[in-house]
Amino acid sequence: MAQQVKVYSTPNCPWCKRTKKFLDENNIPYQGFDVASDSAARDEMVSSSKQLSVPVVDIDGDILVGFDEERLRQKLNLLQEEIKVETNKAPANRCTSGMCGQVDEMKQVLAALRASKYKCAVCGYVYDPDLGDPDSGIKPGTLFDDIPDDWVCPVCGSAKREFDRIEEV
Ligand code: FE
Repeated sequence: MAQQVKVYSTPNCPWCKRTKKFLDENNIPYQGFDVASDSAARDEMVSSSKQLSVPVVDIDGDILVGFDEERLRQKLNLLQEEIKVETNKAPANRCTSGMCGQVDEMKQVLAALRASKYKCAVCGYVYDPDLGDPDSGIKPGTLFDDIPDDWVCPVCGSAKREFDRIEEV
């Protein structure tokens, strides 16, 4: 069974090119997304990886940030027969700077994503991070992600997982 591989990248990022080259060399088919021009893909990438640097590789839902040959081989079940001489072990196998483009825009998306309101799918109550839920001990300014998992909807008592993010980006 073939794995589903997605690569989120920008055109100018050298580690993105390396990642794609690696996949090509190993005959791994993948779906490529240019997050510099494809805003839907960018939102998807930021949402799944919770960060802004590229490349991001999604292998059947497992998220790998940056070009990490060892982990790619592991996830893709590729045998490490030939050890490449080039060993770049710096944790910088990804693009975080403006050279990759779109970083400022992505930062805004991430900030907006983190500060999003969430709506109870059962009763429609909206959690607003600016207000929090002081009656349940959730201070104003608490992001939805940071609310304890045992918190429940103050209106209908539904679990936190019943809430959906309200798209405002
Ligand atoms: Fe509710």
